[in-house]
Amino acid sequence: MEREFICIICPNGCRIKVEYEGTNIKKIKGDECPKGKDYVKNEITNPLRVFTGSVLVENGDFSLVSVKTPVPIPKKHLKKIGEITRQIKVEAPVIIGQVVASNLLNENIDLIATRKIENRKFLSSQ
Ligand code: SF4
Repeated sequence: MEREFICIICPNGCRIKVEYEGTNIKKIKGDECPKGKDYVKNEITNPLRVFTGSVLVENGDFSLVSVKTPVPIPKKHLKKIGEITRQIKVEAPVIIGQVVASNLLNENIDLIATRKIENRKFLSSQ
C-alpha cells in the first residue's frame, strides 16, 4: 500500500511518501529527520491526537469553557469523546488546568480546562 503523510511533529510539515504492508514500512521518502519515520509508524499502527472542545459552564462569566485532553489520545476515540463532552456541565469558577472530566470511556482519558471562568454571582456582588 502507498500513502502520503504530512508530518505534524514540527513546522517543517514534511510530505512523507510511504510504501507499507500491514505495519511494516518497506519504503519511505521525504522524511527529513528520524522523527518522521516514527510519526508515520504511529499513524499506521495507532494514530494519536489531542482532543479539543468546549464544555458548558453554569453561573460563569462565560457560558462555555475550552477543554482539551492533557495528552494525545487514540484517534478512534475522538468522535465519542466529542459526544460525551457536549453532555458535560461544570460549575463556575473554573481554573486553567482543572480536570473537568476523568477516565472517560474507562480509557483513562481526562479533560482539562484551558481558560479561566469566573463565578458570575461572585462578580456581580463586588
Ligand atoms: S520529518 Fe522531521 S523535519 Fe520533517 S516535519 Fe517531521 S519532525 Fe519535522
